[in-house]
Amino acid sequence: MQKIPLMVPWLGEAEIEAVSEVIKSGWIAQGPAVKRFEQAFKERMVSADAVAVANCTAGLQLALIVAGIQPGDEVIVPSFSFIATTNSVIHAGAVPVFADVAIKTGNLTAASIASAVTDRTRAVMVVHQAGVPADLDEIFAYCKPRGLTVIEDAACAVGSTYKSKPIGSHSDLVVFSFHPRKILTTGEGGMIATRNLNWATRLRRLREHGMSMSAADRHATGGVSIENYSEPGFNFRMTDIQAAIGLVQLSKLNDSVQRRRELAARYATYISDISGLHPVVDPPYGTCNFQSYWVELDDSVLKPRNNVMEELESRGISTRRGIMTAHREPACKKYFREPLPISERLSDNSLILPLYHTMSYAEQDHVIESLIQVVR
Ligand SMILES: *Cc1c(COP(=O)(O)O)cnc(C)c1O
Repeated sequence: MQKIPLMVPWLGEAEIEAVSEVIKSGWIAQGPAVKRFEQAFKERMVSADAVAVANCTAGLQLALIVAGIQPGDEVIVPSFSFIATTNSVIHAGAVPVFADVAIKTGNLTAASIASAVTDRTRAVMVVHQAGVPADLDEIFAYCKPRGLTVIEDAACAVGSTYKSKPIGSHSDLVVFSFHPRKILTTGEGGMIATRNLNWATRLRRLREHGMSMSAADRHATGGVSIENYSEPGFNFRMTDIQAAIGLVQLSKLNDSVQRRRELAARYATYISDISGLHPVVDPPYGTCNFQSYWVELDDSVLKPRNNVMEELESRGISTRRGIMTAHREPACKKYFREPLPISERLSDNSLILPLYHTMSYAEQDHVIESLIQVVR
């Protein structure tokens, strides 16, 4: 059997066709395909608007700006996340304050947020880690009366749901990633779903150098129009080449999520029976897209997690360590305040198993059987 990879993007002829159409059109930068992708995305996520950006990290940074976060303001984030969550706060000039996560979901809770709040807290960046939805209503109920803006880092959560509605529909700043490690990919790319149309206008301006009228719109008018620049912006645009891929990927999203959930359920059937192993599952209030399928090894597993990973690797199975923690990295150490025992435990004692659209049952069986032999 060939080596089993962790993740394979689900790309095909339709994406190739869509890209060549854009190239033949003569307009490859941000233009009509980006507009179509935004339109289709907002409809699928049941949001009022969606603004495409270069990547999720850039989108998080713009979200912090439109939320009015100022230098010195504190923004609560989970340390248990890819480091981009924390980096976006630092680059917005704000101070990241780490809060711990729940062991079952890997996500912030109202209680963990409450224990990190100070009188300088202005916002909370809630991550739907690995596609597991956070308990949004509980978090909104805590944050709203205190005037704290909630920004959702939904980098991993395209196609996940909270209380039967898609992630992307519940608040005013929900930021997605389309990196190939995520399940809907455009190579690089991101999207900010918002219900606030004024913010959508400002986000579009900020992503394109602060320009009052986009280059594509100026071109489309045919006449002479002079743009102005009301505030310093960024170049965080997505290209039409990426958006064309995104449109095809979005049309495959339901199939993609369905297949991942089917494979995840199959993993769970076998792995839940192995003592000491705790696979990620749907929380009671929502559904996961199983962007990353993580398994926590508890103390009854005598082998260290890294040895388990090495032995699986020697059997031709790629795995990754659990989600990282930011507070133990040199880049973010100085922001560490309160102990984060659950974040550290989850990060150090979990691993991510292979899961991709074209994974066969035979490949999955090999992973399951190997895991059973290795941890026994
Ligand atoms: C992947 C990821 C990001 C970064 O997304 P990019 O599109 O690569 O910028 C941010 N947050 C989380 C939780 C992620 O998993």
